[in-house]
Amino acid sequence: MIREKLQLTREEAQLLGFANYAELSLYTKMAESPAQVITFLRDLAHRAKPFAVKDRQELEAFARAELGLDTLEAWDIAYASEKLRVSRYAFSEQEVKQYFPESKVLPGLFGVVKTLYGVEVRDSSAPVWHPDVRFFDILKDGALVGSFYFDLYSREGKRPGAWMDDARGRRVKGDTVQTPVAYLTCNFTRPVGDKPAVFTHDEVITLFHEFGHGLHHMLTRVDELGVSGINGVEWDAVELPSQFMENFCWEWDVLQGMSAHVETGLPLPRELFDKMLAAKNFQSGMITVRQLEFALFDMLLYTDFDAEHGNWLQLLDQVRQEVAVNVPLTYNRFPNSFSHIFAGGYSAGYYSYKWAEVLSADAYAAFEEAGGANAATGQRFWDEVLAVGGSRSALESFRAFRGRDPQIDALLRHSGMVEEAV
Ligand SMILES: [Zn+2]
Repeated sequence: MIREKLQLTREEAQLLGFANYAELSLYTKMAESPAQVITFLRDLAHRAKPFAVKDRQELEAFARAELGLDTLEAWDIAYASEKLRVSRYAFSEQEVKQYFPESKVLPGLFGVVKTLYGVEVRDSSAPVWHPDVRFFDILKDGALVGSFYFDLYSREGKRPGAWMDDARGRRVKGDTVQTPVAYLTCNFTRPVGDKPAVFTHDEVITLFHEFGHGLHHMLTRVDELGVSGINGVEWDAVELPSQFMENFCWEWDVLQGMSAHVETGLPLPRELFDKMLAAKNFQSGMITVRQLEFALFDMLLYTDFDAEHGNWLQLLDQVRQEVAVNVPLTYNRFPNSFSHIFAGGYSAGYYSYKWAEVLSADAYAAFEEAGGANAATGQRFWDEVLAVGGSRSALESFRAFRGRDPQIDALLRHSGMVEEAV
């Protein structure tokens, strides 16, 4: 079935005038060519691998000393990693949760947005489908820019997960402007009795992430519906505004401002924050090269691979020799269950996870270079990225904002992979 799928996708690509399926896949994406993606993945692998090796050595040493495992076998890795994580980086999610009541988190989020874009979020009203749902307007200098519904709590019968969706998009109709409206839906635990709703740090990140998608939709200035907001934005660039917002959830200043213990009212302690940060970057080298192994295998498979006679297990082996630190046993048939690229929509697209992370980290680094959240950089991000939607290519937008092509350094730094640590 794998061979048939590879042959058919190649045939499809050739019928449409492309040399291979990777070229067809990238035609509507931000990445320009398979060669550009492969270079990107190899570059990142080259930079991340020393940290992955170090992660592996740390795990081996721990397994030997604490678990009595002289040889770390493939099947030991998940178990040993979890033991190591708990022993070095454990903290209580329940404890963290006490610091993030909704009454602090929402003003904290709206405060970041105000600092960046100078917009006000205000309570408003509209017909709603459930008493939990609230409606807000976003105003710039008193003028309505967009609106959104917040439907934050889980309840029976509600679809699980978190997402942004558009209720309506911005467009000009005659001489009136239809402002955009977003649905922001989450499934957080509802408040009980007179206690406020409290969020885990992961939930705070989710809220910022979805609100980032929401801002992409609501802060657009494009008048044509087909390319306003997130419409027409390349598939591998859609997560830029959302992952960008997540970064603020790791800023000490921001967290202090939006945390207050439900009983004592005290902000998040620095010591707890440091533990959260260390846990975030636990084994980031190993996790990164694993993602790169999948992404590189996917891209090579849909580029020059001989669909008729080639052996994909051999190809995967070569990729592993190049980037992996944890190599499964020879009887492992990973490709047979890699449904993302054979059954899902990720054929020659798996790289987009890392690609989007690089974009969002590098965009965020522009703020770090300017000393944190600030209006001047925020305005530029709004003008060059959020406002233009799908009206021009995402790479052009990124270059206009950053003044250069995306670089991988910021992502490595945010993941704790900096040279001094080797
Ligand atoms: Zn997203």
